[in-house]
Amino acid sequence: MDLDISWIFLGLPAAFLLGWVASRFDLRQLRMENRSNPKAYFKGLNHLLNEQQDQAIDAFIEAVQRDPDTSELHFALGNLFRRRGEYERAVRVHQHLLSRGDISQSDRERAQYDLAMDFVKAGILDRAETALRALLDTPLAAQALLALLSIYERARDWRQAAEVSRQLDLQQGQGQFDTRRAHYLCELAAQSKDNEQVHALLQEAVACAPLHARPRVALAQWMQAQGQTGQACDQLQQLASDLPSSLPLFAAQLAQLAPQVQRESAVLQLLQNGYQQLQSLDVLDALVALESHMGKADGRAHYAAHLQNHPSLIAASQWLAGAGLDPQQQPQVQRALDHAVKPLRRYRCAACGFEALHHFWQCPGCQAWDSYPPRRIEEL
Ligand SMILES: [Zn+2]
Repeated sequence: MDLDISWIFLGLPAAFLLGWVASRFDLRQLRMENRSNPKAYFKGLNHLLNEQQDQAIDAFIEAVQRDPDTSELHFALGNLFRRRGEYERAVRVHQHLLSRGDISQSDRERAQYDLAMDFVKAGILDRAETALRALLDTPLAAQALLALLSIYERARDWRQAAEVSRQLDLQQGQGQFDTRRAHYLCELAAQSKDNEQVHALLQEAVACAPLHARPRVALAQWMQAQGQTGQACDQLQQLASDLPSSLPLFAAQLAQLAPQVQRESAVLQLLQNGYQQLQSLDVLDALVALESHMGKADGRAHYAAHLQNHPSLIAASQWLAGAGLDPQQQPQVQRALDHAVKPLRRYRCAACGFEALHHFWQCPGCQAWDSYPPRRIEEL
């Protein structure tokens, strides 16, 4: 009898254990079956490939309800909601993923990044910023910094943009964001009212991108405004030698500075060489203006020579301006020509085609940097 009782005491826990193992096995088996036959998932995929997003969402919702533990389906669903502009639903899916305790650290970081993207797309930039900053010590730091950079650019928060571009350079290797940082510093300088700060910012920008025209042209303008005409002229003459293609952007400023510092001959030579090289009408205009200041022959000969090589309406209009035709009719003719020439004097973004009367360093249309060639539409 004693022996029987002891068997019962030993047997009971063993039977419980076996039962529990069997139940776990059944559950796993069931899940494996579900996963090995995810019809709803494939249905969703099929709809996606056929660009039927509504049906794809229904199929994915069905799949998620059947197997709520699958994080990949949640990611797919969340991204679909975001692409369709249903930001609230996308946020809910990604927040649900984040609230789960059973997903891996990398999935958690991915969900955090996706949540930040939902906020970016929805235009809730402060929440996007907070979500991205939480990723700065993770393997997604570089991606998060890039997203932060575009947020700060959008908000025109140039100080933060400059700081993030510095961190990106530390992350992704030296120098990749130097030019971009120079732009941010120039934007900051343009906003600042503090004269010394403007000078310091522009000098920093020149140091960041010594072979970029913008900080050096801005520094020369600042020097000219301070009455440092000699230094301003030095700066631009050096820039013309370092970056000849940018001369059309500051040729007029250089022609205006030259008589103030008695460097007419040197600057005239520089402009003549620049024009030979670039055939730019901006350079030709500056050259004609400087020659006229020096009391030299009339500029119309230059425009006539330009017309021999280029069928330019701008040059024709300039030539006609000094032609001394019938005083009764010339103003009307000139007005009509000026009207026709106006669109040709614009600059055009090489990235999106946005046209503007002024040269922009960042396109107001597509926000691309340095996408405006320093040439007028007629010269492209
Ligand atoms: Zn553009």
